Amino acid sequence: MILVFAEVIENEVQDITYELVALAKQLGDYKVVVVGADPKDIDGDVIQIDGILHPYHYKVAEKLFEEYNPDAMLFANAPFGMDLAPQLAGKLNLPLITNVVRLENGERFKATSLTYGGRVLVDLEVDKPAIFVVNRGCYEPVRGTPNVEKLSLAVEDGTELLRVIKPEEAGVDISKADVVVSVGRGAVDSLELAEELAELLNGVIAGSRPVIDQGLLPKTRQVGRSGKTVTGKLYLALGISGATEHVEGVKAKNVIAVNVDKEAPIFRVANVGVVADVNELLPVLIDKIKEAKGKR
Ligand code: FAD
Repeated sequence: MILVFAEVIENEVQDITYELVALAKQLGDYKVVVVGADPKDIDGDVIQIDGILHPYHYKVAEKLFEEYNPDAMLFANAPFGMDLAPQLAGKLNLPLITNVVRLENGERFKATSLTYGGRVLVDLEVDKPAIFVVNRGCYEPVRGTPNVEKLSLAVEDGTELLRVIKPEEAGVDISKADVVVSVGRGAVDSLELAEELAELLNGVIAGSRPVIDQGLLPKTRQVGRSGKTVTGKLYLALGISGATEHVEGVKAKNVIAVNVDKEAPIFRVANVGVVADVNELLPVLIDKIKEAKGKR
């Protein structure tokens, strides 16, 4: 049996949970643990627990492990999952594999994991039971109807969640946008044009870390390891070199990259590469799109 821990933040099941459910379905029988949230659209058996499962509440997960004796526990590579899974692995003395992009069930589990900052993929085999932290964008999300079993688990571990300090919200979640126009250090002079392009394409603007560090865009717009992962239909990378820390966050179905350097690593992950100066290309591109839309 597979125990999936829904990624819940502030009483809401996060989208990545539906990707974990898709994986669990491939692995075998599963139950999804949802703490303190409505298990909306979760397909299959759900164990719903009232309260807040904060990152120091590994004791709840420990009790569930003892109760259900699962072969695997799946967590999301997201704030909550990444806090809880390692603590649980330590407490239960179980193997933990993080950054999982593929997982198969058999005599033992076979996992593929991203390592060295996303540069290397490694295949691993591990005995049961084990804990896996799964990356976003690797499984097509599955939604359905929950079959809910309510459970109350009283846990005292001496810690109390006092408050959650949220990042400043810019009102836009780039990880959910279909079209993302992203500005790198090579395109900062054309930020306004990039914003115009994003608007024309009904998309949102984002950036690489140096652009965020310079304060040109809010932190919520950062793509990459220490930012967000984009999973939409199109990612347009303007003047972005394609460092591993950046491309770790690029999981869009199509990637178009514009860079003056034809050797730029971003071209390795792009479906379409354009060797051009962004500052020259953008005005022309915007004109063409306006023309096609009859706006000129
Ligand atoms: P650069 O690497 O400077 O690239 C600029 C590119 O623009 C170059 O390829 C250049 O050829 C091109 N260019 C220049 N002028 C033009 C022009 N006129 N037209 C077209 N192309 C042009 N980075 C992230 O983005 N997100 C993260 O979440 C992140 N997390 C990190 C976490 C850690 C622990 C560390 C160590 C680093 C992290 N980084 C992250 C930083 C990352 O390593 C890179 O430094 C960063 O992604 C580089 O950003 P860039 O591509 O915009 O800039």
